[in-house]
Amino acid sequence: MLTKEELQNTLKDNCLNLRFHGRGGQGAVSAANLCVEAFHGYGVCQPKFGAERMGSPTESYVRLSLNDDLVRNNEQVYAPHVVSVLDPSLLGEIDVVAGLAPGGWLIVNTTMDQLSLQELVGREDINIATIDALNIAMEILGRNITNTIILGAIVRVMPMFSIDALADAIMMRFKGSIAGKNIDAIKKAYDETCIYESKNAPKLDFTIDTKIPWQQVSPELPGYKELDKAGVWYCDETIIEMGSSTVNTGSWGEWDMIWNKDVCTDCAQCWFICPDFAILRKKGDDGLWHMIGIDQEHCKSCLNCLEICPVKAITKKLKQGPASCAAPQ
Ligand code: SF4
Ligand code: SF4
Repeated sequence: MLTKEELQNTLKDNCLNLRFHGRGGQGAVSAANLCVEAFHGYGVCQPKFGAERMGSPTESYVRLSLNDDLVRNNEQVYAPHVVSVLDPSLLGEIDVVAGLAPGGWLIVNTTMDQLSLQELVGREDINIATIDALNIAMEILGRNITNTIILGAIVRVMPMFSIDALADAIMMRFKGSIAGKNIDAIKKAYDETCIYESKNAPKLDFTIDTKIPWQQVSPELPGYKELDKAGVWYCDETIIEMGSSTVNTGSWGEWDMIWNKDVCTDCAQCWFICPDFAILRKKGDDGLWHMIGIDQEHCKSCLNCLEICPVKAITKKLKQGPASCAAPQ
């Protein structure tokens, strides 16, 4: 197992990828969120679920690093270093170890022994940890909610943050006695996690690039082009513009924004804050940029500009109405 110091050094130039398997309602997404909240560094998490009802299999993903450039990826985690399974019945339904890096950790809420589990998933090149999270949950929380408990087990084998940092994140997310009970539960899980380090598991390689090439976007790659307006671009010769450059997003808004040129001082605060490039500016003969209006086709009526304008040079007028009643007499 890596020590906390070794892992911290590794995460200066690498990313730790985690995947959670649960069922709808078990809190796999909250577990992923808590990972990011407890980590002293940079992190992102994404859930994967659609229209599933409670009890359907769900997944959530976490990327943690001390280098913020490495966590700007919103893809699913395809090659996790740690996989956590909140519900043991998923073992027979889903290939939970798919893509799990050799030397990685499978952590399961189960009473099964680690060797049987290794045999069940058919991987000798991974390490296994088990925790009877169901019993801890019923004893301490009084409900079968195992999401925080599995985090206690993860921290035991992958010290990405301390159990105290996890407790702090729980205090931020939950209130009163619920927070206290969850903290008791993670501490118990930390102590009671059963660990099996496989002799056939290699050293965990954090340098494996798990990105899928067609989703990679980097400046200077062939085909990369900065677009003037919001859009999507791909790393080949084809650039497909989308978003507000081609769509009249202004039709979504309920307000027309009215700009008073005579009051405006050209401070540009509205331009900085507008999320849709809808504040129009033009370079003047004096070589400076000046506001020339508001693009109603792309303004979505968020009112940011109205609120930030220090001299009230922007006002609003309802796009629709008033209704005229032309009902027959
Ligand atoms: S209302 Fe929002 S979208 Fe419209 S111009 Fe102002 S800041 Fe931009
Ligand atoms: S924030 Fe107000 S004063 Fe400043 S540029 Fe925009 S409209 Fe003009």
